[in-house]
Amino acid sequence: HAPVQLVTPLGDRFLSERLHDDLEQWVPQLTRRTVQAGHWIPRTRPDQLAAWITEFVTSVEDDRPRPAAGDRHAERFGGQLVLVTGAGSGIGRATALAFAEAGARVVAVDRNAEAAARTAESSRLAGAPAAWAETADVSDEQAMERLAAKVGAEYGVVDVLVNNAGIGLSGSFFDTTPEDWKKVLDINLWGVIHGCRLFGRRMAERGQGGHIVNVASAAAYQPSRALPAYSTSKAAVLMLSECLRAELAGQGIGVTAVCPGFVNTAITSTAHFAGVDAEEEKRLQRRVARIYGLRNYPPEKVATAILRAVARNEAVVPVTPEARGARVLSRFAPGLLRWIARVKPPV
Ligand code: NAD
Repeated sequence: HAPVQLVTPLGDRFLSERLHDDLEQWVPQLTRRTVQAGHWIPRTRPDQLAAWITEFVTSVEDDRPRPAAGDRHAERFGGQLVLVTGAGSGIGRATALAFAEAGARVVAVDRNAEAAARTAESSRLAGAPAAWAETADVSDEQAMERLAAKVGAEYGVVDVLVNNAGIGLSGSFFDTTPEDWKKVLDINLWGVIHGCRLFGRRMAERGQGGHIVNVASAAAYQPSRALPAYSTSKAAVLMLSECLRAELAGQGIGVTAVCPGFVNTAITSTAHFAGVDAEEEKRLQRRVARIYGLRNYPPEKVATAILRAVARNEAVVPVTPEARGARVLSRFAPGLLRWIARVKPPV
């Protein structure tokens, strides 16, 4: 039995996917790949085919484990080019690694060069046939334009874009300075706009579909007296995602807004608390980090939800139970959510 790789274009009108049912019976070492394309993929997706063939041959020669036959994520994402911003830590890092495990090629972007390099290295170890680290501040329009030009020229058109980079900001409306507002909107909202505009345009021009994931927050639909600026930035990301989803649907490009909930990452220790001095800010960061630590919801579960959301082309994905609960309340009992918004946070 020789190892065999089967590539099935899902939009092939001549050779249906059903023709390959039960193939494992005859070919025990089978690696399946599917791609959203028509019959002539050697012509329309040469980059994708070449990446899969290279990866397959190398993994057979090196006797490296290949994605298991029947692994849906490997079939869906193997060989695809996935770019994740804020990939140096937390949800971004876990997401990059999950795509790497599914055999995707990964571009790990972060403003922290060392952290991005670590994620790229771990992605290779996790199974990515190729992984690159890129340093960019998502709020810097020119830096993002340079990044998009480099990625396009050197790695190809991104199949899955995850706009994840973001920062936390807590404090009442009157404690939040114009500089605080500018910073949180520049990163949390403009970072997403730059990503969608630059990478989304190339996706649309290629005409072979793709997917954009924007990491919003449960704060996008759950008001809170403690997070006016952060929640505003995330509500804007949620609405942007919905509008873009409508615009790009006809081009086979899915758009998902992910709303995680409380997730145990480093965001708690870097979040800015407006209206308090540096010492009090440190104390609040430690306290919130402790609460998130006790909740202990791992970023890996958010990553799993992101891969599933792309595979199913879901529109809005609340992740933790509290995020899902708040989403239900925002629809069916918004008055209750408004009452909860008035409660003073326990920090
Ligand atoms: P994290 O702090 O662990 O990771 C964020 C990463 O983004 C870091 O590596 C950081 O260097 C990078 N980053 C920050 N600003 C950047 C910029 N301007 N340009 C490029 N990279 C930048 O945080 P996390 O919890 O993993 O958060 C990821 C996303 O998830 C954020 O958008 C956040 O708002 C959102 N989110 C997090 C939670 C949570 O509870 N952790 C909840 C809801 C939403």
